[in-house]
Amino acid sequence: MNCIFENVTKNVFVLAVWDSSWNSYNNCYFIVEDHDVTVIDSGKLQHAKYIEEALHSIGKSVEDVSLFIATHGHEDHVQAATLFTNAKKFIHHNEKDMIEYSEPEQFHYELPDQGIFRDFECHLVGCHTPGSVIFYHIPSKVLFTGDFLCFFGDPLSADGLVSEGKELREAWLDYLKDGGVSKEHLPAFLEGLKSIQPFDSIAMCTGHGGVLAGDIKEFASELLKVGNEKRIQQ
Ligand SMILES: [Zn+2]
Ligand SMILES: [Zn+2]
Repeated sequence: MNCIFENVTKNVFVLAVWDSSWNSYNNCYFIVEDHDVTVIDSGKLQHAKYIEEALHSIGKSVEDVSLFIATHGHEDHVQAATLFTNAKKFIHHNEKDMIEYSEPEQFHYELPDQGIFRDFECHLVGCHTPGSVIFYHIPSKVLFTGDFLCFFGDPLSADGLVSEGKELREAWLDYLKDGGVSKEHLPAFLEGLKSIQPFDSIAMCTGHGGVLAGDIKEFASELLKVGNEKRIQQ
């Protein structure tokens, strides 16, 4: 199996595991601070050994994970959370009825709809799933969008997993122009984009595929412009 593990910033890491059954990379993220590790999205349980190996390669183990937060409740984002036995685990309460995770009692359903949570600003986007949340990690300026805005099934940029990803940005804009986000979902999607704009993000980490480095605010503005034009046409 193909998996890539690399830095997004000095202490933020991405693990992208190729999932041949879905024809996509599934991503999870580690933020390493002194002795503590925060994990954002866990991947599927069948990919657990890649998480263990990735943590081991930076001198950490699953026991060092003290905080786990999930962007939403799909299996590829929460299933392997059972690995982190020492972690406090959080997911939005709107995901409570999702059926794709084991041991729902391991989670605290306490993420704010909008506001500060630990070192993050959270924003409920309510698009993709009812409890999909984006996280902006204030110290590193890295944005985590889950599957609200992701590159599911898309090839990586020619410049690598973590890159400016010009072709990925353009592909998303084209997808939106071509009606990829349905009329029904477009208003919520545009609201979600607006929530990204205030952040001075230097990287955008999504649930699947390429990690965008560089100006994210501009990318969100371009998407909003195209999305708003699309909405007017509908
Ligand atoms: Zn999902
Ligand atoms: Zn996903």
